[in-house]
Amino acid sequence: MAGKKVVLFSLLFCLLFSACKKDPVVGSHDYKTLGTSAHDLLSANPYSVLQIEINYMPGYAVDAASINNLVNFLQILLNKPSGILVFQKQIEASGKATISISDIVNLERQKRTLFTLDNIIAIHILVTDDYYTDPLILGTSYWNTSFCIFGQVIKNNSGGVGQVSTTRLTTTILEHEFGHLLGLVNQGSPMQVDHIDPANGAHCINKNCLMYYAAETSTMGMFSAIPTLDANCMNDLKANGGK
Ligand SMILES: [Zn+2]
Ligand SMILES: [Zn+2]
Repeated sequence: MAGKKVVLFSLLFCLLFSACKKDPVVGSHDYKTLGTSAHDLLSANPYSVLQIEINYMPGYAVDAASINNLVNFLQILLNKPSGILVFQKQIEASGKATISISDIVNLERQKRTLFTLDNIIAIHILVTDDYYTDPLILGTSYWNTSFCIFGQVIKNNSGGVGQVSTTRLTTTILEHEFGHLLGLVNQGSPMQVDHIDPANGAHCINKNCLMYYAAETSTMGMFSAIPTLDANCMNDLKANGGK
């Protein structure tokens, strides 16, 4: 996989997005620019509860171990004293070979049922049965409380002989995309020291860090374990209200 050309970035999607956003928003705190809810996700006020809604296409439910890994990861980073809850349900198949950012957004608008309200901040994760327009991409973050992972790409790049386990790859992409919602790198959680990758958008320069750009692509097999956040990324989150 190494050597294949990669990548479109969350920042790009975000910009793309704001440019073509037309529909009225359902939740007045959701469907905003990527990274703008980083502090609200990290701190206990005004939201003491985090609710995560996962809508998956048939055959691509997120396994329990990956969900547990994600929740454990978030419990270490976020101040959510009243809890972190995950709700998962199946939606219909896409019936397509590839999915575009506007398809993703339309689906979210149709299927999302949890929104940020009162003391609850809500996140929506879409899991698709097809490829993104760039077939190397495993996931993408596009709004402040939304991201998408591409189930077909994860399946094709994990679980087989010589491949990483599906739980390891799924956990990595879930945690990486969540890292973007938490404002990494320098897109909602200001850098405490310079560690952004100038060639790869809102990503960390440290290739062993979860927020290294390749963690978002199918070249991910290079990692021998689920990557963690390095000290620079952790410090950015702490400085923006995290634990
Ligand atoms: Zn990324
Ligand atoms: Zn980092």
